[in-house]
Amino acid sequence: MMAGPPLTPVEMRRYARHFSLPEIGETGQRRLKAARVLLVGAGGLGSPAALYLAAGGVGVIGIVDDDRVDESNLQRQILYGTQAIGRPKGEAAEERLRDLNPHVRIERFDARLTSGNALGILREFDVIVDGSDNFPTRYLVNDACVLLGKPDVYGAIFRFEGQVSVFAHREAPCYRCLFRDPPPPELIPSCEQAGVLGVVPGIIGSLQALEVMKLATGAGQPLVGRLLLFDGLLARFRELPIRRDPACPVCGDHPTIRELIDYDAFCGTPAPLADEVEITVASLRQLLAESRAVQLVDVREPWEWSICRLDGANLIPLRELPQRFGELEASRPVVAYCHTGQRSLIARQFLMAQGYGSVRSLRGGVDSWSREIDPDMPRY
Ligand SMILES: [Zn+2]
Repeated sequence: MMAGPPLTPVEMRRYARHFSLPEIGETGQRRLKAARVLLVGAGGLGSPAALYLAAGGVGVIGIVDDDRVDESNLQRQILYGTQAIGRPKGEAAEERLRDLNPHVRIERFDARLTSGNALGILREFDVIVDGSDNFPTRYLVNDACVLLGKPDVYGAIFRFEGQVSVFAHREAPCYRCLFRDPPPPELIPSCEQAGVLGVVPGIIGSLQALEVMKLATGAGQPLVGRLLLFDGLLARFRELPIRRDPACPVCGDHPTIRELIDYDAFCGTPAPLADEVEITVASLRQLLAESRAVQLVDVREPWEWSICRLDGANLIPLRELPQRFGELEASRPVVAYCHTGQRSLIARQFLMAQGYGSVRSLRGGVDSWSREIDPDMPRY
C-alpha cells in the first residue's frame, strides 16, 4: 500500500485524533489523503457517508447524483438543510462538504449513472460506495465494480432494517453471488409505501464510511464475504457468511456478463401498459365529466389521503383491499389510483382476480393529476 502524500501542519492538527490510533496514525492519514472515493447517490446513505469521509480527510470524494433536494428528503438526508430545498443535490453537497473540510476535493457528476457512463466514471476511483435506492443502479454498480476490479461498499435499507457488505474486493463475492436475480418489480414497495426511519440510513451509511476508511488505510478486517444485517427495532446485528458463487454470471468461473447491460430491462422496469390496464389523467377527467358510473378508489395510506385526494373517491388502502373490496360494485367500472401508479396496478390485478369486469389504474397517480390537471393539488 502506498504511503500517500505528506500532510501539512494544518492537516496534522485537524486529524490529530486519528494519530493516536496505531491502526491509522500518520501513515493511515496519508493513505486517506491519497484515496479517491466515489459515492453513487447522495441521499440517505450517501449523506452520512459523505460527511464522515470528508471530515476524516479522504483526498477526493466523487458524487454521482442527478436529483434535487426535496423537503421530504430532509428527515434522513443530513447533508442538506432547509435552504437547500429545490437545489441540485451535487451542488448543495459540494458546498456543505467544502465548509466541513476545505482540504478535501469534490468531483461532481450531476448525472444519473448509466451503462454508458459508469465505467468511465468508476475507473477514476479506488473505492465505490453504493448509496443507490433502486435495483437497476445496484446491479449496474456491482457489475461495473467486478469488471474494473474495484471494491463495492454496499448498503441498503428498508424501514427499520439495513444491510452492509463489501463486494467484489479481490476474491470477495459480489452482489450477484448473493442475489442472482432482482425481485419482480411489483413486489418492490415504493419508498412512501414502505417508509424508513431517518436514523437507519444514518447508521448504515456510517458503516459504509467505516468500511471505506478500513479499505483505504488497511486497518482491520473489511466486511468481505460477510453480509451484516441490522435490525433497528430489536437493536440487533447479525452476520451472514457469503461465498463467491463459481456460477455467478459476472464474477464466476465462466462469466456470461462481460460488459454492462441494460439494467432497466434486466430489472423489469415496466413498459407502458395497454389502455384497458391503465387510464391517463386526461382520459379520467373526461370520463368523470361524462359519467357518474365510474367508481374511484384511492389505495394510498390515510396520511397521503389527508394531503390530497380526487373528488368522489373512496379510500381503501392497498393492504386493506383483500378485506374491503366488497365495498366496490363488480358491475360498475373501477379506476384505482395511488401516488405514482404502482400500488394501483397491484390493486387492479387483485380486483380483476376477484372477477371485476373493468378495473383501470391511473397512470402516474395523483402526482400526474396535480402536474397535468390540477396544479392547486398539493404534491408530496
Ligand atoms: Zn458474483
